[in-house]
Amino acid sequence: MQVPASFQYRKATSVAHALALLQEYGPESVVIAGGHSLLPMMKLRLAHPEALIDINELDEIAGIHVEDGELVIGAMARHAELLACAEAGEHFPILHEAERVIADPIVRNRGTIGGSLCQADPSEDLSAVFAALRANLVVRGPDGDRTVAARDFFVGPYQTVLAPGELLGEIRVPITAGGTPAASAYEKVDRRAGDWAVGAVGAVVEVVGGVLAQVGIGLTALGAERFVAAEAEDFLRGEPPDEERLVEAGAIAARHCRPAADQRGPVDYKRHLAGELVTRALRRAVGRVG
Ligand SMILES: Cc1cc2nc3c(=O)[nH]c(=O)nc-3n(C[C@H](O)[C@H](O)[C@H](O)COP(=O)(O)OP(=O)(O)OC[C@H]3O[C@@H](n4cnc5c(N)ncnc54)[C@H](O)[C@@H]3O)c2cc1C
Repeated sequence: MQVPASFQYRKATSVAHALALLQEYGPESVVIAGGHSLLPMMKLRLAHPEALIDINELDEIAGIHVEDGELVIGAMARHAELLACAEAGEHFPILHEAERVIADPIVRNRGTIGGSLCQADPSEDLSAVFAALRANLVVRGPDGDRTVAARDFFVGPYQTVLAPGELLGEIRVPITAGGTPAASAYEKVDRRAGDWAVGAVGAVVEVVGGVLAQVGIGLTALGAERFVAAEAEDFLRGEPPDEERLVEAGAIAARHCRPAADQRGPVDYKRHLAGELVTRALRRAVGRVG
């Protein structure tokens, strides 16, 4: 049986209390949300925090709502809540398409959106999704709040810009960033239902006057820097979304990503997958415009 090293446990009753507890226990303390990523790592002794600060009762950073033209997702919102949120699916089909293929109902009922992002696992689906959506993350810390673009939140595998003593409060997605509603889609290949991605791609497009005014392409488990296919986005921006361009954007993304060989497949296969999924996700997103 795998047993974690011993640790202290405190339950926070408010965000201010959680921040105070993080200060009190110092840099070896971490928050625990759903625990679906943290607890397995602790049992494997890959993580050995000295104190767990439980944030499950923090209603201040839970729930999902629309405010000032943005979809606001509390860090403590569960996967199942996002999947059940009609407004989220209506504005951003990419969110529902990704959530439908994340794990199983047991994980989705408990695992949180904030935990997914803060884990920064290269195979985590929502990191690429929120990078494609150009979401903003509100970080809460002892010196107040700061906002970080999702694209700047990830600094490497399992690493984010969160400093010790900070926590993620909410994720904000502009509903009409450039004045035009975005269209979106998510494409994932996994070995069996609910498995981690072999590779996956999220695409978000805004078409104005027949050209792509803005494009977001997020790659999951395919070795893209900060989860983004920036070169393919640059290639498409300002151009009409015709079929040849979408295929070429896939080829560009495939050339620039750096997938790793593992039990899910060799590099060449994953690179091919990246190209194919980028084109498919873009094609479906463009098909939803208007
Ligand atoms: C069997 C299984 C299958 C899975 N399959 C998939 C899949 O297909 N796709 C996918 O994307 N994910 C998958 N997951 C991962 C799952 O989505 C995440 O484990 C889960 O959502 C993480 O959220 P959590 O609330 O459990 O985080 P926790 O495990 O509680 O925390 C994870 C990390 O984030 C930190 N953290 C949590 N919340 C905050 C916060 N608000 N502020 C600062 N730091 C925070 C914790 O300190 C910890 O370091 C799977 C997990 C399991 C167990």
